[in-house]
Amino acid sequence: MAINRRNLREPGGIRWKILQSWIENGHEVAWMEYRGINVRDEPFFGEQLHCECYFDYQRKRMKCGDGKWRVGTVRSSDKDEYRCPAIKKVRESLIKKAAEANKERWQNLGWKNAILDIFKRVSSGENLWQHHEKIIYVQEVAKLLQIPDTDVWRYCDELFAEEKLDLNGAILMDYVSRFRFPKEVQQLFGYMIEEPLGWPNGEAGDGFLEIIEEAIHKRTDYKHGKRAFGEENYPNVATHILEMFALRWLRFVLARVKENPELLKGKYPEVDLDATLKSLEKLLEEFRKLKQATDP
Ligand SMILES: [Zn+2]
Repeated sequence: MAINRRNLREPGGIRWKILQSWIENGHEVAWMEYRGINVRDEPFFGEQLHCECYFDYQRKRMKCGDGKWRVGTVRSSDKDEYRCPAIKKVRESLIKKAAEANKERWQNLGWKNAILDIFKRVSSGENLWQHHEKIIYVQEVAKLLQIPDTDVWRYCDELFAEEKLDLNGAILMDYVSRFRFPKEVQQLFGYMIEEPLGWPNGEAGDGFLEIIEEAIHKRTDYKHGKRAFGEENYPNVATHILEMFALRWLRFVLARVKENPELLKGKYPEVDLDATLKSLEKLLEEFRKLKQATDP
């Protein structure tokens, strides 16, 4: 099979051109250029990796909502580029090539500067075989650097603390200096907003935080988390405060259950004593190990 050349001119006006093509297990995957005109009559263009699944559609005249007939598209099969092993394999081998080509440069820069290098290059339009133009995810950076995801997450946290980089979910973003709550407080707000909606609930928590953080930034003198919470509590709440609240909140739980044993009942009890005890025992074990290791 091959990419259906007839469909390189989309009914919506987008035109595709194959720049480079690979056959993976009889399936065509191609690096392609696209061009079109948007609703404001402005030209747009770019380059993307696609496979024949993407162009597997037929033209069909159909009646639209406004009663007019237009040519639309109907998928010929349930082929889906996002689940296609061929494009996945080609992308992986291209990423590996990019990783090898940049290996020396990134190792010389050090991992954190290498992450900034990748972010800058992708943001300015360079193609490093990531899924979306100008956007790169933590997992994609890890593949390029050939290091574990967890390392990239950790370096991104450090870069955030250094005010050089931000994350939106797993997407790398420019750091914008403004008021923010410490990470753990953000988590608390996020959970409280999303839990009643059925946690996790998309961006509800992030959206809420953005609104109040921006309002605080605009209307008060707190232009930075450090200014409000002190150096020791930003970007992470100080350990002794986390410890104090963890114990204090558990005491609250205990007092409430004593007062109202109903909290332990029902199909979804508010307090699941078995699960809590299990978690506490695990934690206790780790704390004891730590104590033994650090005791003189
Ligand atoms: Zn495919």
